[in-house]
Amino acid sequence: MTTDTSSWTLEQPKLPYADDALAPVISAETISYHYGKHHAAYFGKARDMVKGTPLEGKSLETVVMAAHKEGAKALFNNAAQAWNHNFYWESLTPKKQMPDAKLKAAIERDFGSMEKLNDELEKVTTGQFGSGWGWLVSDKGRLKVVSTSNAGVPLTDGLTPLLTIDVWEHAYYLDHQNKRPDYVKALVSDHLAWDFASANYAA
Ligand code: MN
Repeated sequence: MTTDTSSWTLEQPKLPYADDALAPVISAETISYHYGKHHAAYFGKARDMVKGTPLEGKSLETVVMAAHKEGAKALFNNAAQAWNHNFYWESLTPKKQMPDAKLKAAIERDFGSMEKLNDELEKVTTGQFGSGWGWLVSDKGRLKVVSTSNAGVPLTDGLTPLLTIDVWEHAYYLDHQNKRPDYVKALVSDHLAWDFASANYAA
C-alpha cells in the first residue's frame, strides 16, 4: 500500500481503517471528533479561503507550500493541518508492523537500533511543548526525529516526513486525559505504520 501524498486534494480522504480499529489507544469517540470534526473543519476552512483564488483546484501540498511562501498564515494553518492529519491517519495501523530491510538498515545506521529510535520518538514527541507533532523524517536519506509546533510541517524545512504522531490534546484527552506519555508510548510500541514509513523512505 503506497499513498502518494502529492495526489492529496482539498477534499478529506476516507479514514484508512474502521473508526474503532485503534481502540483502546484511540477510541471511536476520539476519532469521531478528531477525524469527523477537527480534521474536516481544516479542509472546509482551507477550501473557503482558496475559493476564487489561483490556488483553487490545486493539490493540498501546493496550497501548503504556497501559503507558507506567501506568509498567508490562516491558510497555511488550515491547509497544513489538513495535510498533517492525512499523514497522521496513514501513520497509524491497527496491527503491529515493522520497517522493510532498507529502512531498518537506515534506522540501525542513524539510531543504533529500533529500540533506540523508539526511545527517541517517544522522548521528542512527548516533549513537544504545547500543541504540535512528533515526526520521523528523512533529511536527504539520513533519518531524524523532530517535532513541530501547532500546524508546523517538516515539508517547509525541505525534510521528507516518514511518520507522524499528533500531540494536540484533542488527539488523546478523551482516552488518556493528561497522560500524553501513555498515548505516545502505546502508538510507538504497537501502532506505527512502518509499511507507510518504508514506502515514504523508498520514494
Ligand atoms: Mn489533531
